[in-house]
Amino acid sequence: MIQRTLSIIKPDATARSLDGAILKMIQEAGLKVVAMKRLHLTAEQAGGFYAVHKERPFYNDLCSFMSSGPVLVSVLEGEDAIARYRTLMGATNPEKAEEGTIRKAYAQNIEANSVHGSDAPETAAFEISYFFSQLEIVG
Ligand code: ADP
Ligand code: MG
Repeated sequence: MIQRTLSIIKPDATARSLDGAILKMIQEAGLKVVAMKRLHLTAEQAGGFYAVHKERPFYNDLCSFMSSGPVLVSVLEGEDAIARYRTLMGATNPEKAEEGTIRKAYAQNIEANSVHGSDAPETAAFEISYFFSQLEIVG
C-alpha cells in the first residue's frame, strides 16, 4: 500500500549540515519527498507535536532540544513508507541502531538522534497535518 509518513531532520543534524546526506539516504531508499519545509519550532510547538510523550520523563528535555535549532520537516511517500522509513532510521538509541541506518551513521545519543519518523498510519496522519496543508503536498 502506498503510504505517507512524516520525517523530521532534527536540530542536531541540521547543526552539522547533515540534511543533504540524510535526504540522500532517504531518496536512495526509494522514498519520495512530496513536501518539505525548514522551521525553527518554539518549545510549545514541539510540545504539541510530541504530546503523546507528555508523561514521559524526557518530555521537557525533548521539547527544549527540538526547539534548539532549525528542523527540516518533510512528507515521504512510497510503498509501505511508514515501516520502511522506521527501518532506515534505525533504533531510537543509536548504540542499538543497525549498520546502514541513519541513526547509526549520524545520531549523537538517544535524544539527539538526528531524525523522526511516524510510527503508524494514525500518527502519520496527525503529524503530517500538524505541519502541512493538502496544498503543500505534491505527489
Ligand atoms: P522514536 O523517535 O524512535 O519513535 P520515541 O517515540 O520513543 O522514539 O521518542 C521520541 C523521541 O524522544 C526520540 O526520538 C528521542 O529524541 C527522545 N527520547 C526517547 N527516549 C528517550 C530517553 N530515554 N531519553 C531522552 N530522550 C529520549
Ligand atoms: Mg516515536
